[in-house]
Amino acid sequence: MKVVIIGNGISGITAARWLRKLGNAEITVVSEESPYFFSRTALMYIYMGHMRFEDTKPYEDWFWKKNRINLLQDRVKNVDFSGRTLQLSNGKLEYDKLIIAVGSKSNKFGWPGQNLEGVSGLYHLQDLQNMEKFSKGLQKAVIVGGGLIGIEMAEMFHSRNIPVTMLVRESSYWDNVLPEEESIMVTEEIRKNHIDLKLESNLQEIIDGGNGKVAGVIVKESGEKIDCGYVGLTPGVSPNVAFLKNTDLNIEKGIVVNNYLETNMEDVYAIGDCAQLSDPLPGRKSIEAVWYTGRMMGETVAYNIMDKQVTYDPGIWFNSAKFINIEYQVYGYVPNQEDSEVKHLFWKNEDNNKSIRIVYDAKHKYVRGFNLMGIRYRHEVCEKWLAEKTSIEEVLVQLSLANFDPEFYDSYDQQLVDQYNKDNETSITIKSKRRLSKVLEFLGK
Ligand SMILES: Cc1cc2nc3c(=O)[nH]c(=O)nc-3n(C[C@H](O)[C@H](O)[C@H](O)COP(=O)(O)OP(=O)(O)OC[C@H]3O[C@@H](n4cnc5c(N)ncnc54)[C@H](O)[C@@H]3O)c2cc1C
Repeated sequence: MKVVIIGNGISGITAARWLRKLGNAEITVVSEESPYFFSRTALMYIYMGHMRFEDTKPYEDWFWKKNRINLLQDRVKNVDFSGRTLQLSNGKLEYDKLIIAVGSKSNKFGWPGQNLEGVSGLYHLQDLQNMEKFSKGLQKAVIVGGGLIGIEMAEMFHSRNIPVTMLVRESSYWDNVLPEEESIMVTEEIRKNHIDLKLESNLQEIIDGGNGKVAGVIVKESGEKIDCGYVGLTPGVSPNVAFLKNTDLNIEKGIVVNNYLETNMEDVYAIGDCAQLSDPLPGRKSIEAVWYTGRMMGETVAYNIMDKQVTYDPGIWFNSAKFINIEYQVYGYVPNQEDSEVKHLFWKNEDNNKSIRIVYDAKHKYVRGFNLMGIRYRHEVCEKWLAEKTSIEEVLVQLSLANFDPEFYDSYDQQLVDQYNKDNETSITIKSKRRLSKVLEFLGK
C-alpha cells in the first residue's frame, strides 16, 4: 500500500511514524517548506539566538531512511482524486491512501500595502528569514494583531532592542480568550517590557516608501501615521487549502472530515491545522490549530489507515504559551467571562505576574478547567481531575499533587484555598504531602 502524506509538520510526521510502527506501508512525505521536520513552535528561539535551526529538528536526519519513510521536498500543485495522483512542481506521485496535513497560513485581510516588501506573517521558515533580513538596522517594527503569535513577534524584535508598536483590535490583550484579570496581567507585562501596545487600534493601510518597501502604517481609529521598516501581520491563521479549492474535496474553512478523519473523497484523510471536524465535541472548535491536535490526529489517522478503526478523541483541551516572562497553561473549559454554567475560583499575587484560576461546574461543583499564569501545574494530574470530574473541594484538598515546586508554591495553594473557604464558608485544608510518590500513586503509576 502506497501512503502519501502532504506536509511534514507535526501532523504529517506523527502519521508517518505511527504508520511505520503499525505496519509495512510504503510511506512518502512530500512537503515544500523544508527537507526535514522541525518544531514550528521554536521559530522564535532561532531568531532570539537561543537555538540553531538544527536544534529544532526533533529527529536526526538518518532517522527517516532507517524507518523507511521517504521524504520529498516539493510543492503539490494539484490533486487528481479520481486518478489518485498528485501533480508536483517536479513530476507526479501516485497514492493508494492520501493524508493531507498542509497546516495553516497567516491571515491577510486585504489591507492596502499588505504585499509590500517588509510585510510578513510569522508562520513559515521563510517568514523567519524575511524577519531576519529586515532586522538589520531596523528602526521600528509594527505588529498587527494581538494573539499568541503577535506577542511572540513583539518579544523577538524586543530581544534585539528594535522598538515595536502592536496594534490590537481588542480593549485589552487577547481578552476574547483570556479572562479579564489574566488579560490585564499580560497587557501590563507587554507594557513593562516597553512594547508600545495600542489597544482598540486597527490597521488602515500600509504605506509604500515609493520603492515597493514598507515605510509606515496608518491607524484606522486615530489616523496616526507610524513610520516603520517592517510590518508583522499576525491576526490569526487559517487552513492552507487554496490549492485544493478547484477540486471536489469538501472544503469549508478547512478540509471537512468526520470523526475518523476521512474526507468526502475515498481513501483521502485530512489532519492537523488544515482539518475541520464536521462534528466536534460539545464545547470544542471544529478547527483547533495547535500542536497537540496535530499529534493526536496523526496517530488516529494512522490507526484508521491500518484498518484499526478509532474515532478521533481530542482529549482534554490543553494549550500553553509564554507571554514574554509569564508562562501560561490552560486545561479544559475556561471561558473569558463567568457564565451561568460555571463558577471561577481565582487568586493572583500582588506583583500581578502569577495567578491560578479554577473553573468549576456551578451546579455539580466538579472542576471544568484550570488557567495558570506564571505557575505550572502537572499536566497528567490536571487531566485526571478533569477527566474524572473531580469535585472542586477534593481538588483543593489535593492541590499539592499538581505542583512541581514545594518551596515556592505552598503559599499560593493556601491563599487559593483560603479564598474558596471565604467565598463558600467552608473550612477545607490542604492534606496531601507533596512527595513524588504520592503523585505517582494518584496517577496509578
Ligand atoms: C510562531 C508559532 C508559534 C506557535 N506556538 C505554538 C505553541 O506554543 N503551542 C501550540 O500548541 N501550537 C503552537 N503553534 C501552532 C502549531 O505550530 C501548529 O498548530 C502546528 O505546527 C500545525 O502542524 P501541521 O502539521 O498541521 O501543519 P504545519 O506545521 O503547517 O505543516 C504543514 C506543512 O505542509 C507544507 N505544505 C503546505 N501546502 C503544501 C503543498 N501544496 N505542497 C507541499 N507542501 C505543502 C507546509 O509548507 C508545511 O511545512 C505555533 C505556530 C506558530 C506559527
